[in-house]
Amino acid sequence: QAGPNDLQTKADRLVQMSICASLARKFPKVTIIGEEELPADDVTEDLIEDGHCEEILKKPCPAQYTGIKEEELVIWVDPLDGTKEYTEGLLDHVTVLIGIAYGGKAIAGVINQPYYNYEAGANAVLGRTIWGVLGMGAFGFQLTEAPAGKHIVVTTRSHSSALVNECITALNPDHVIRVGGAGNKIIQLIEGKASAYVFASPGCKKWDTCAPEAILHAVGGKITDIRGNSFQYNKEVKHMNSAGVLAALRNYDYYASRIPNTVKESLVP
Ligand code: AMP
Ligand code: MG
Ligand code: MG
Repeated sequence: QAGPNDLQTKADRLVQMSICASLARKFPKVTIIGEEELPADDVTEDLIEDGHCEEILKKPCPAQYTGIKEEELVIWVDPLDGTKEYTEGLLDHVTVLIGIAYGGKAIAGVINQPYYNYEAGANAVLGRTIWGVLGMGAFGFQLTEAPAGKHIVVTTRSHSSALVNECITALNPDHVIRVGGAGNKIIQLIEGKASAYVFASPGCKKWDTCAPEAILHAVGGKITDIRGNSFQYNKEVKHMNSAGVLAALRNYDYYASRIPNTVKESLVP
């Protein structure tokens, strides 16, 4: 299903094979849904990761999740979010997204940013991993508030449309940031670079929003479609987020109240 607006590179394929095969080997009963449709070929051993993170396992599991069975989990994988920007050399827009859902809800997520700091000089550590669990919090970054009293909207860089722009204009923002990737846009929210993520268009999928949603919700933010409906992540759900995306760390209700009805009516969930 690759096309000029929906690219697939060798990196997308290899990363997905690595993540999905590694998870399936360790957790054979979990449902794993990845973005790329790949042949069920055997994965070479060098792509298998069988390590674990001590820092994460040291933290107590929130009580409401201790009884979960493996087969009740659905893992949504976007091996490379921001592929368009990746092909254009905007490397820090790229993230790897792994979201965990239970009961249709995003409960935990990882946003890996492999090229974080890539322009920061030879002494800077390249790459970082942001992760979070509902009821536990989110880690691997410094939670930062956006500038008070300013409306800074972050939106798509490469999938704009008349409706996307009409919706942003209606919010009368002080500033608009156009960057690639759903993962990257949630990073803009939790690091105080933007106050709302607004995307009035279909195109974004469940693997784009699951991990970012868990992390944003773990720090008190909110993400829904443009009409205010929450996303569902059970394995039977439609992959497309047809009614767009609206997210904020703070003041979600303000932004939701400013979305025009005409925009809402143009987007059918
Ligand atoms: P963007 O904000 O444009 O980087 O999009 C966020 C995520 O949604 C990326 O994974 C995009 O590939 C996907 N996406 C958004 N709009 C479209 C579209 N019109 N066609 C294909 N994928 C899209
Ligand atoms: Mg993506
Ligand atoms: Mg992708």
